[in-house]
Amino acid sequence: MKKKITLIFVPLFLLLLALHSFSQQSEVQPVEFKKISDRLYEIVGGRGANGGAYIGDNAVLIIDAKMDKKSVDQVIAGIKKITDHPIKYLVNTHSDGDHVRGNQYFPETVTFISHENCRKELFHPGRDGTPSEWNTPELAPFLPSLTFRDKMDVHLGTKRVELWYFGIGHTTGDTVIYFPEEKTAFIGDQIFLTRPQIIHSYKGGNSFEHVKTLAKMLDTLDAERFCSGHSEIADQEAIRNHIYQMKKQQEKVKALIEKGKSLEEIKSEFEENEARLIESIYNEIKSSKG
Ligand SMILES: [Zn+2]
Repeated sequence: MKKKITLIFVPLFLLLLALHSFSQQSEVQPVEFKKISDRLYEIVGGRGANGGAYIGDNAVLIIDAKMDKKSVDQVIAGIKKITDHPIKYLVNTHSDGDHVRGNQYFPETVTFISHENCRKELFHPGRDGTPSEWNTPELAPFLPSLTFRDKMDVHLGTKRVELWYFGIGHTTGDTVIYFPEEKTAFIGDQIFLTRPQIIHSYKGGNSFEHVKTLAKMLDTLDAERFCSGHSEIADQEAIRNHIYQMKKQQEKVKALIEKGKSLEEIKSEFEENEARLIESIYNEIKSSKG
């Protein structure tokens, strides 16, 4: 009998141990507010991308929405600890789920803002062709109701928040939110520091436009600090280096195409995790010649 019990309990114990360590690994970090100034915070943790919050004279503006109710509730609770002002605006930096799915968990009284192309992209099918959930009427109140083309200012009492569009890159509708007093820009997913850049070709994103768009941003804004969806806060030097690295990758792909190499041969000349970016660059070069 004793032996039988051991036979059952040892595998069960091992299974529970495995499940426990799996849940530890996939555990989501709680939402955390990182102070940049008395008014400006970067919001990290939770499910979804890093975002931000700006406390104006009379209202709060949020940057990006996380992607589940638990994370949004933590964002709202975090704001309440800092100020009594209501959340009035939420700017979506672009159309990716980890930046927009949480819109639906904010109060309907919040005004959602994005670039006009971002709003259009929200209705597009996913990469695998699945229809967008934004086509369901229940989500309509959480779509961006204010859109802009080149630039828009949002005034929160005496404070001004600048929304800029510098062109196509990661997607076709990436907004840069600039805070002049803090010399800080929130740039969504227009830079990744610890992994290769994602270019959503299926949404119309383009790597050659991406480097031009980032250069235009550096030329236009007097920013010292760049907050993004999935990386640590970056400085101008990091953005310049990112542009340089991508140009180098583009030149290498171009040279290999001229040598008559196939896509598979070209991919093998790069790191494995660069494959998707290299394929985008390859297709962009091919289509511009065709
Ligand atoms: Zn993202």
